[in-house]
Amino acid sequence: MSEQNPLQIGLETLPGISEARLELLGRLGLRTVGDLFLHFPRSYEDLNDVRPIAALSEGSIQTVQGEVVEIEGRSLNDGRTVVSVVLSDDGKNCLEGVWFNQSFAAKRFRYGQRLSFSGKPKWYRDHWQMSSPRVQILDGGATGEEPGVMPVYPLTEDLRVEHLRPIMGRALDLHAAHVADVLPAVLRHKHDWPTYQQALRDIHFPASLAVATRGRRRFVYEEFLILQLALALRRREIRDEGKAPQLISSPAIDARIRRLFPFRLTADQDRAVAEVCRDLAVEKPMQRLLQADVGAGKTAVAVYALLVTVANKHQAALMAPTEVLARQHARTLDRYLAHSRVRRQLLTGALTPAERRAALAALAAGEIDLVVGTQALVQEDVRFARLGLVVIDEQHKFGVHQRARFRRLGVDPHYLVMTATPIPRTAALTVFGDLDVSIIRELPPGRQPVATRWEPAGQRERVYTRLREGMAQGRQGYIVCPLVEESATLDVKAATQTHAELQVGPFRDFRVGLLHGRQDDETKAAVMERFCKGELDLLVCTSVIEVGIDVPNATLLVIEHAERFGLSQLHQLRGRVSRGPVAGQCFLFAEPAGDEGRDRLRAFLRTTDGFALAEEDMRLRGVGEFFGARQHGIGELRIGNLIADGDLLRQARKDAFTLVADDARLRRPEHALLRAAVLERYGKTLDLAEIG
Ligand code: ADP
Ligand code: MG
Repeated sequence: MSEQNPLQIGLETLPGISEARLELLGRLGLRTVGDLFLHFPRSYEDLNDVRPIAALSEGSIQTVQGEVVEIEGRSLNDGRTVVSVVLSDDGKNCLEGVWFNQSFAAKRFRYGQRLSFSGKPKWYRDHWQMSSPRVQILDGGATGEEPGVMPVYPLTEDLRVEHLRPIMGRALDLHAAHVADVLPAVLRHKHDWPTYQQALRDIHFPASLAVATRGRRRFVYEEFLILQLALALRRREIRDEGKAPQLISSPAIDARIRRLFPFRLTADQDRAVAEVCRDLAVEKPMQRLLQADVGAGKTAVAVYALLVTVANKHQAALMAPTEVLARQHARTLDRYLAHSRVRRQLLTGALTPAERRAALAALAAGEIDLVVGTQALVQEDVRFARLGLVVIDEQHKFGVHQRARFRRLGVDPHYLVMTATPIPRTAALTVFGDLDVSIIRELPPGRQPVATRWEPAGQRERVYTRLREGMAQGRQGYIVCPLVEESATLDVKAATQTHAELQVGPFRDFRVGLLHGRQDDETKAAVMERFCKGELDLLVCTSVIEVGIDVPNATLLVIEHAERFGLSQLHQLRGRVSRGPVAGQCFLFAEPAGDEGRDRLRAFLRTTDGFALAEEDMRLRGVGEFFGARQHGIGELRIGNLIADGDLLRQARKDAFTLVADDARLRRPEHALLRAAVLERYGKTLDLAEIG
């Protein structure tokens, strides 16, 4: 064997593989032995469920062994041909196998031959039928033979499983034994995993479903382990190599900060504050994620941390995903800090070049204590005199990269990252897996659950009446539409048009504003300002209000075409109207096309628990879609599934963090292969330069 890594050997070197097959494999992205090995079956057909014909049932794959009693080929009216082969296992009961447009199929069979058919039986008129069953020829009348477990691969029309299997078999025979096992023996034994080679055989040529499953789980574990090692290394690198200022919250500081809030912190907020303060008080940079249900009061925790930083004579930055939110935070801080000497600056894309230059100079000179902004904060030219803390609010979009940015500016601030909506635990362990986590589940006292109703289209007038009643009592409301302008192809309520109609129609006696993503920042800011001050009663908007907007007096919400929003998005939207003591009312208009859409809306009506809805969202949409809109910087998992393999993720995480605690840079020889695998997969994305 040459020195070459067997996994990188091209498939063209396999004996007896044709150009045409190579081409088809290439189209599936299979070019090397390694690609082929990891081309796992999508599922398996268990052909071990052998039954007498009399005991067949619909719904699952079953196998029947019998004798051919009839062979027939004929043409159908529609021009198709059908071959029919009938088996009987007792001379009475019959099973008919049918093949369409495969007239050659008939030639494979003869009367009296013993065969087994595997497939899903269907009761057709007066007998059982299987369409294109899998056939085995049982020679010499041998029965009791194990038909086995057949892998079902993601393949194409022209490349079928019977083509792939010999190629896979040859590749395994020639190369699998020469691949070094990445998993250290200790971990392999701990979980009783099969060896690399054995696991591959069990996956592609399983003797039973159980071994196939175990083989797959071994690889899933390996994939999770490599990811979690990368995260553990990154966390260690930043925490232990980085040096951040010590920011102490003394009892005096604590009392001074708490006096600023017009409310008492909830027990969950207090716990989060304590966790944050513990991190700030040591010289290692905090790397903490604050997860909370919508409206649970993350901002207060963030403000606390910002003020501890300023009290310790360091600068603090609060970064929001949108202009509107940045301004809202600035307003909140203005309110809390009305009588304080904390020097504040709003830094967004809306500043004029001159204003921006002045702001940057003041920041760099240390003349500003607290800066609130958008992505404008992470631009190349932003310098801080002594940055102590960065809080990233409503993180959906900012991925791991964004956090790395502040490091390259030559400082190591503490980090507090706040998610926009709860995310499922397993998802948090991957996307934010290098962070410590604080969770706020409890809502502030006195919150009423939002009453959510899915309204039939005919009830529109009644809903509008409800809105008018609420607004007449001084409440405010939102009407959310999915798109900005009427689209020619989709019959979608557009915010602009809805606004125009409602203003002169049902809500002519009220002040109706319009807010959508295509307005310029000035207009958006002005509209939001008026709404916050109560100068508008009703805001017709797109999902720009989805994230973070906090107007406690707004308690009425209508969502048009609710079927077009994801579950987490709907939860965010509903979160806008449960921020004060008055119960919110949420009215949905929706015409879901399929079951998934209906299930989503039903789940939304069933619960207001954001953590539960997040799990449901990921389950309904699948992990890929769930993350779809979010840049997470970690890339797709190749094998593992966050929903089905959650237990393995937790095991792998535990093992990875223990391993890194023990061998901080994976320098030990028994970890060399793991280290190489981690660097190859995540070295660049996670900025793991220093262990390289
Ligand atoms: P989110 O976690 O969704 O960002 P916010 O921080 O905007 O939520 O808080 C939602 C609302 O709850 C705000 O109006 C805030 O003033 C209020 N709030 C936060 N904490 C408390 C508390 N402990 N008691 C009462 N009201 C609170
Ligand atoms: Mg918020």
